[in-house]
Order: sequence, then structure tokens, then C-alpha cells
Amino acid sequence: SSIFADLNLRQTYRDLPENFYQDIAPQPLKEAHLISFNPSVADWLGLDACRVNPSDLARYFGGDGILPDSQPLAMKYAGHQFGVYNPQLGDGRGMLLGELVNRDGQRIDLHLKGAGKTAYSRFGDGRAVLRSSIREYLVSEAMYALGIPTTRALSLVGSEEFVMRNGMEPCAAVLRVTECHIRFGHFEHLYYTRQHDALRELADYCIARYYPQFQNEEDPYLALFIEIRNRSAKLVAQWQAYGFVHGVLNTDNMSILGETFDYGPFTFLDEYDPTFVSNKNDHEGRYAFENQPDIVLWNLSCLAQALLPLSEKDALVSALNEYRDIYFAAYYGLMRKRLGLLLEKEGDADLINQLILMAQAQKADLTRFLRDLCDIAVESPATIESCMQHFASRDAIEEWLTRYLARVALEAASQPIRRQQMRSVNPAYLLRNYMLEEAIREAHQGDYRPVNTLLGIIRKPFETQAGAERFGEAPPDWAASICLTCSS
Ligand code: AMP
Ligand code: MG
Ligand code: MG
Repeated sequence: SSIFADLNLRQTYRDLPENFYQDIAPQPLKEAHLISFNPSVADWLGLDACRVNPSDLARYFGGDGILPDSQPLAMKYAGHQFGVYNPQLGDGRGMLLGELVNRDGQRIDLHLKGAGKTAYSRFGDGRAVLRSSIREYLVSEAMYALGIPTTRALSLVGSEEFVMRNGMEPCAAVLRVTECHIRFGHFEHLYYTRQHDALRELADYCIARYYPQFQNEEDPYLALFIEIRNRSAKLVAQWQAYGFVHGVLNTDNMSILGETFDYGPFTFLDEYDPTFVSNKNDHEGRYAFENQPDIVLWNLSCLAQALLPLSEKDALVSALNEYRDIYFAAYYGLMRKRLGLLLEKEGDADLINQLILMAQAQKADLTRFLRDLCDIAVESPATIESCMQHFASRDAIEEWLTRYLARVALEAASQPIRRQQMRSVNPAYLLRNYMLEEAIREAHQGDYRPVNTLLGIIRKPFETQAGAERFGEAPPDWAASICLTCSS
């Protein structure tokens, strides 16, 4: 029998008031077919990957079949988009199919993105195109493998249905899985509509489900906010340390679990450019790479505002004021690891800042440089040369490397141990936009093999893989002209 016969789906979100969501059924995609599924996500869900039947996946996650016990719903939320409050948001093309409890007792939401129109679709068609679905499907696994908190995806289903974006494009659906689909915007919606009792119910739901340790705190809502602040600060520190640009950091794309959420026009930087704007529609550069830590703080202040009816203003403001220190501690901690500096020494932050400024000035590829830096050894001029080649001007990097080698000599770990430690945090492969563009181009021709090849590579970003050499090398020149928009 099908493994989908006894998932025992629940839906605790339905315990909340009825105006929190809309009952809705997915709209089947025409000729839905499985493009890819992720066995490690299946394993997390407790599904036996060997018994997963491709046609079952296409049926249930292409909108045709309703999973046993599933009572799909679309969530209502609001949010600040590009700094402007929009009360009209909600799941406009995604549906929560149900919650699955895995063998570790984790309650995981199954959310089908691209499932058709809902009450919150506004002028949208309720669909997701193949291009953006491939991007979300692959990058969420890439982030997971890098150790960056993120939603994940079980399956990618394609179709013979077309909608208008950049011309007519094929539709697809991604089954997004994560413990949490509650966004900052859920709280904002209830605050700005003055539903304070409902606001408390939502906060209580979040605490009971995600943060039960705060139930007995004197002010559980403040504890909730502080935890979300900590997670968000650490998350954005990881983005900054790995050159990830989210692209659309609106408050409706901020998870209260501190996961990277709702992928669109994201980029992993090729050349290190702090001013890089990933979304062509972001004319003011609000969501430029270097702005992300401040934007996350801004978003947290929106959440704090929405919690005013439940907690003390002064305490919330203090919690916001502590954000920068938490962010910087996390960022420098990560960068020190990437540089193999496990002991804490005076001058480390300065060494890191110098590298960053140099990478910026010379448009170096920091990811590829740091991977080569793992192998550097004083006695081997070739390893030093490999590092230097990433910088156009040799003098500055030579001086920096001399300083770095002197600093590294103070470490307790031997070179081979340090190399191993550094390789475990400095990826050989990032899911760069050009790789996605290539896979998307092939998928549009009906060849899904590159999507699956990339999945295999980015699942193990720290291991050099035979046949994947090209993806560890410099991106092609055309990568610099890739143009992403809100529809990406
Ligand atoms: P996003 O830019 O993906 O974060 O989406 C912002 C809002 O627009 C959310 O409420 C989405 O559900 C909604 N939305 C995005 N694309 C569509 C679409 N094709 N049809 C309906 N609603 C959409
Ligand atoms: Mg969104
Ligand atoms: Mg989106």
C-alpha cells in the first residue's frame, strides 16, 4: 500500500480562530509529473525513500489527490513589503496540507507552494513557475547542507500548465516542509486589525508549539521575542558570512523560527560586493547584501511593535538594542571559524575586516579564496600562490597572508587538523545563480537531469566530488549579467 495512506496528518493550526485561515483545496496541475524528490527530506519526515512512488508524489504534490486526513488551508497574514505595510497578504498560492509528526516527535508542516488561487491571491494566478520552483527546491537543500537554518523541500513537480511571467512559462509545485510557517506578518495582521485577544492566542500557540520552555516565564511574550531576536541575528550572521543575499526581506518572509524563508531572487555572491542588489525590482537597493543585518533589525522592530499589547515596551526596546552585539558576536565567530582561528586573539576582528575590505576593493571571490586558504602552508609556496591568484593586486593580499600565517602559527591545532576543520566550514561548491540558470534552461527543454545532478552536488558542499570540478571553478562571464526579479 502507499506510504501516504497512513501519514496521520493533524492540523493544530485549526485550533486557532476561523478567521486565521481559509479552507481551500489545491487545484490540480495539468499533466503533473515528478521532476525530483529529496530522499534525505523523506527520511526526516519518516517516509521510507525506497517506497516513495513517483506517481504518488506527482498526484499528491501536483494538487490532484488529497492526502488522507488532509484538510488544506491558506493562512492569513500581512506584512511590510519594501518598508510599506500591506494588510492584504496571506497564502496566495500556497496551502498548508497538514502537519506530520515524525519519529522524533517533531511536528512538520507540509505546505504545497503553487497549488492555485486562494482568498489571498489578490491579482495573482495562484501558481509558481518552474524557474522559481527549481530555485527554491535546490537552494533550500543547499542552505541546509551549509548548516544555515532553512525551510526544506520534499518534491518538485512539473506540469503542462502555463502562466504569463517572462512570456508563457510552465507551472510547478514544491512541497515545502518546515516546522513553522508562521511569519512576523501573522502578528502584524492581528496587531493592525486590533484583534488583541487573537494576537495573544497566536503568541500562546507559538509558545506552546515551538517554545514551550517559555510557558512559565514571568513574561513569556518577551521571552518569545528575545528568542526570535537571537535566532534572527544568528541567521543573518550566517548569510553575511557565506555571501547569501535573500533579495526580498519583507516581514512576511521572516519566520518566527529564524529559518531562511520564502526564496525568490536570492544570490550567493560570486564577486564580493557589499552593495550587491539581487532583485532588479528593488530600485532603491533596500535589500542590498550589506543592508541585511539592519533590515533584519528593522523587521524585528515591526514584530516588537506588534507585541506591544502583550508585553512591556521598555523591555522590547532593550531587546532590540541588544541585537547588534548578538549579530556581531555571531558574525565574527563564524568568520573566525572560516579562517581557522579557533583561539580568540586580539586583532582577529581587524584581520577579518581587512580581508573583507580587500575582497570588496578587488572584487575577489571570497568563497573560492577561503576554500584555497584551507590548504595554505608556510612551507609550500604553491599553496600561497593559489590563494594570491584570487586577488588582482598582489601586494595587499601578500601582506595580509603574511599577517594571517603569523596569526595561524599561534593556533594549537596542527596544519592538517586545521585544514580539516576549515574544509568543514568552507564549501567547495555554492549553489550559484549561473548553475541554477543552466539547470532551468535544460528543464525548460524537458531535461531534468541537471536539476538532480545539482541536488547531489549541493547536498555535500564541503566534499570535493568527482565530475563536479567545473562548479568549484570561477563562474562563467555571463554569470554577471543574470537578472533576477520578484518573480524569480
Ligand atoms: P512573495 O513575494 O513570494 O513573498 O509573495 C508576496 C505575496 O504575494 C504573498 O501573499 C504571496 O502569497 C502572494 N503571491 C505571490 N505570487 C502569487 C501568485 N502567483 N498568485 C497569487 N498570490 C501570489
Ligand atoms: Mg512571501
Ligand atoms: Mg515567494
